[in-house]
Amino acid sequence: RAKDSGRGMLCFYERLMDEKVERSRELAAEMEGALERSEFSLMFQPIFDLAGGRILSCEALLRWTSPDHGTISPAEFIPIAEDSGLIVEIGRWVIREACRIASTWPTDVTVAVNLSPIQLRSANLAMTIVSALATSGLAAERLELEVTESVLLEDITASLAALEAINRLHVRTTLDDFGTGYSSLSYLTKFPFQTLKIDRSFVQDSERNPASVAIVQTVIELAAKLGMRTIAEGIETQAQLDQLRRTRCDAVQGFFLARPMSASMIGTMLADAAPAAVKLR
Ligand code: C2E
Ligand code: MG
Ligand code: MG
Ligand code: MG
Repeated sequence: RAKDSGRGMLCFYERLMDEKVERSRELAAEMEGALERSEFSLMFQPIFDLAGGRILSCEALLRWTSPDHGTISPAEFIPIAEDSGLIVEIGRWVIREACRIASTWPTDVTVAVNLSPIQLRSANLAMTIVSALATSGLAAERLELEVTESVLLEDITASLAALEAINRLHVRTTLDDFGTGYSSLSYLTKFPFQTLKIDRSFVQDSERNPASVAIVQTVIELAAKLGMRTIAEGIETQAQLDQLRRTRCDAVQGFFLARPMSASMIGTMLADAAPAAVKLR
C-alpha cells in the first residue's frame, strides 16, 4: 500500500514537472516575437530619501503580457529569456525604454535598471548604454544599473571588467539583493559599486528578529565606511520603516511607501512640485 501511494506521489510530481517544462517551452516560443508585438512594458517603483522623503530614483520593473498566458512575472520569464539568449535583446529594449521615459522626468530623479548576468557580460552592453543615452538625451549620471550578487561569482574577471566599463561611462552601479545567495563581504571591496541594496528578507525579518536588525545595521555602517550609499528594499510595514529610521540608511523602497506603477502614473507623481512619500513626511 505504502509503495502504491509512493508511486502515486511520484507520478504526481512527474506530472507537475512535465507541466512546468511544457509551460516553459510555450513561453520560450511565444517570447520570440513578443518585442515586435509590443508585449513588454515597464513599471516604475519610487525609491525615497529616508531623511527628507523626496523621490531620488525610480526602479524600472519589466512586465510581459502574453495574449495566451496573461501577465507573467519577471521571476518566471527572465530565466527563460536567459536560457534562449533573448534576454540581451529584451534587456536592450529595457535600457532604451527606461532612458526614454526617464528623460521626461525632473532632472534630479534617476532611473535604476536591472541587468541580467548574461547582459552584463555581453559584448555590446557599453554600446547599448551609450546609444540609449544619446537617443534619449538622458545624462549618464541619471542612469543606474542594478546587478544581483549571485551574478558576480560566475565569472569574476568578466563581471569586474564590465562594471568598470559601465562606471567609465559615468553610469552608476548598484549591488542588488545584498545578503542573499552566496554573498561575500569581499565583493564590496572587489567590485566598484556606488550603492548597496539590502535584500528585503533582512528588512522584513528585522521586525521580529533582533539578529536581522543587527545585520541590517552592520551592513549599513560597513557600506558607509566603504563610501557606498545604502537602499533598503521591500518595506511593507510602519514597524520596518521605524526600524530603518534608527539607522544611517540613505534610501527606502517598498509597497508600504509606493507600489510599482505605470510610466504615466509615475510621470504625474514626479510632476508634483515636491513628490514625497506621505508616510515619510
Ligand atoms: P528586484 O530587482 O529585487 O526588484 C524588486 C522586486 O520586489 C520587484 O518585483 C518589486 O515589485 C518587488 N517589491 C517591491 N517592493 C516590495 C515589497 O514591499 N514587498 C514585496 N514582497 N515585494 C516588493 P518584480 O517586479 O516582480 O521583479 C522581480 C525581479 O525580476 C526583480 O527583483 C529583478 O531581479 C527581476 N527583474 C525585473 N525587471 C527586470 C529587467 O528589466 N531585467 C532583468 N534582467 N531583471 C528584471
Ligand atoms: Mg532591482
Ligand atoms: Mg532587489
Ligand atoms: Mg530581488
